[in-house]
Amino acid sequence: MQENTYDAIVIGAGMSGGWSAKELCERGLKTLLLERGPDVKHIKDYPTATKNPWEFEHRGEMPLKVKEANPVIARCYAYREDNAHFFVKDQEHPYAQDTPFDWIRGYQVGGRSLMWARQTQRWSDFDFEGPARDGFAVDWPIRYQDIDPWYSKVEKFVGISGNRDGIDVLPDGEFLPAWKLNCVQSFFSDSVKKNYKNRHVIFGRCAHLSDPQEVHRQQGRGMCMARLECARGCPLGGYFSANSSTIPWAAKTGNLTLRPDAVVQSIMYDDKLGKATGVRIIDRLTGAVTEYSSRLIFVNAGAINTVSVLLNSKSSAFPDGLGNHNGLLGKYIAFHNYRGKISARCDDFGDNKEIGRRPSGGYLPRFRNVYRQETDFLRGYAAGFGASRSRIGGKAEGWGEELRDNLLGAKPELGPWQVGSHMMGATIPKEDSYVSLDQTKVDEWGMPLIHVAMRYDDNDEKMLLDFFEQFSEMYEKAGFKDIRIRDTKQAPGLDIHEMGGARMGRDPKTSTLNAWNQLHTCPNVFVTDGACMTSTSTQNPSLTYMAIAARAANYAADQLEKENI
Ligand SMILES: Cc1cc2nc3c(=O)[nH]c(=O)nc-3n(C[C@H](O)[C@H](O)[C@H](O)COP(=O)(O)OP(=O)(O)OC[C@H]3O[C@@H](n4cnc5c(N)ncnc54)[C@H](O)[C@@H]3O)c2cc1C
Repeated sequence: MQENTYDAIVIGAGMSGGWSAKELCERGLKTLLLERGPDVKHIKDYPTATKNPWEFEHRGEMPLKVKEANPVIARCYAYREDNAHFFVKDQEHPYAQDTPFDWIRGYQVGGRSLMWARQTQRWSDFDFEGPARDGFAVDWPIRYQDIDPWYSKVEKFVGISGNRDGIDVLPDGEFLPAWKLNCVQSFFSDSVKKNYKNRHVIFGRCAHLSDPQEVHRQQGRGMCMARLECARGCPLGGYFSANSSTIPWAAKTGNLTLRPDAVVQSIMYDDKLGKATGVRIIDRLTGAVTEYSSRLIFVNAGAINTVSVLLNSKSSAFPDGLGNHNGLLGKYIAFHNYRGKISARCDDFGDNKEIGRRPSGGYLPRFRNVYRQETDFLRGYAAGFGASRSRIGGKAEGWGEELRDNLLGAKPELGPWQVGSHMMGATIPKEDSYVSLDQTKVDEWGMPLIHVAMRYDDNDEKMLLDFFEQFSEMYEKAGFKDIRIRDTKQAPGLDIHEMGGARMGRDPKTSTLNAWNQLHTCPNVFVTDGACMTSTSTQNPSLTYMAIAARAANYAADQLEKENI
């Protein structure tokens, strides 16, 4: 029993779980970090990190047969031959799509922090005040000032490159120097500034070390060399992942026990004590069941899995799942609307070409419905902005040196500049967007099959049309030609920003978590991943998950010290 007893247990060793574990360990708590997938040690377990293109059987492309066998992940832009080992394959962990939903997962130590695109934008009060202002979901129980210092803490440790742009909807943070926009991106930035009030094209803030500081060197991480092979795992630690940063840091305290291959089945609850007492796991490889006890439990399994663990944690006090006193657990899930794409040609700057690479690109923060409601839909969208020239004239003819010379050419010809934007729209959390558990079907570890249902609604359709209109106008004003819009019609999920299901709120009747991410009805259980999100904003969410996790972990440690939990 003693061997299996800890001060704290963290479920899920990904982006947010790494932060929960780091903070709890630093506060002196003996912490067990449980992860359902295999261990992935920084550097050692990045098998493709330094391979050359010709060392891959299919030069990095996924063969058609593999794509056909994995239609869900094959739709994800990031799924390639060089990083396929980090993705959960469609057949490995089936789930029921009550409505079409492409669920992109990474079951391993590090979770999806190994696979992410590293875009890190702070939220602002335009986001935290959104539901109250626009009358949907419930009011967030926190505001920007509650989380501002935690953003700073996370940014300094993670290392975020960006400019202090002074934009209301996108608060500045603790930044390392940013990379520069290229000439066409800068031109578009100037054009937008000239033609519009409160619209900006900035360099997208990203979790890359442009100028490593002492705290990064102590993590053993070095400067980002813009190799852009991040998705394979970076041996330099140039971008932030839990594997290169938070988990080894937590281990250095001597307080961390990492237990990979541990599928958490449920959280145990003692009716008499009125608190959670530990967790039950199933060993992924042997099927053996083990129980671990602790005073504190952090659930960081990634929003949908977090909800499913809670729903599966039944007791006589909580017959419908832990913390589900009001029947809301699993409801009000939301995501980001990534359906809109627009592209065009820029006929200027033909004498310019890009040299070198950048780990991020142009970013247009939300500008719609910010200071007043100006459209017939609620909230707004952000967007990326990219500009590049394709190479033409390189012919794949000949063999050996002749082929190489043909491909490279002494003077490879460059085509015109192509520009493009993709929409990142907020969606409104709805009661009928849910995660639930099957009553009869179970997976190979005996866990109930997860059902997912998420739909676009009228608000999303109107927002999409507005994105096309506004971006067509901005592109026209910049003189771009051959403007093309495209609705990808992709199902929810490919944004990979699933949020909600155990939302934060002020009132236990209408929410699952309080302002400190504690279950209202079981205060020694904290949920600090995407499941806690009351609404969605337009910004990428992971920086906010990390800040929320750090804040809640320190609060929990304080409460333990005061014996309030
Ligand atoms: C291609 C791609 C690009 C992305 N780009 C961005 C971006 O630019 N910016 C951004 O903010 N976000 C981005 N994301 C999303 C980002 O990766 C997630 O928001 C983030 O990883 C979520 O953190 P998490 O801790 O909730 O979940 P994860 O990082 O997924 O970690 C959850 C962990 O819990 C484990 N787990 C699940 N169930 C159990 C269980 N029952 N028992 C034990 N362990 C369990 C999982 O195996 C996993 O390791 C991207 C994701 C992908 C895949």
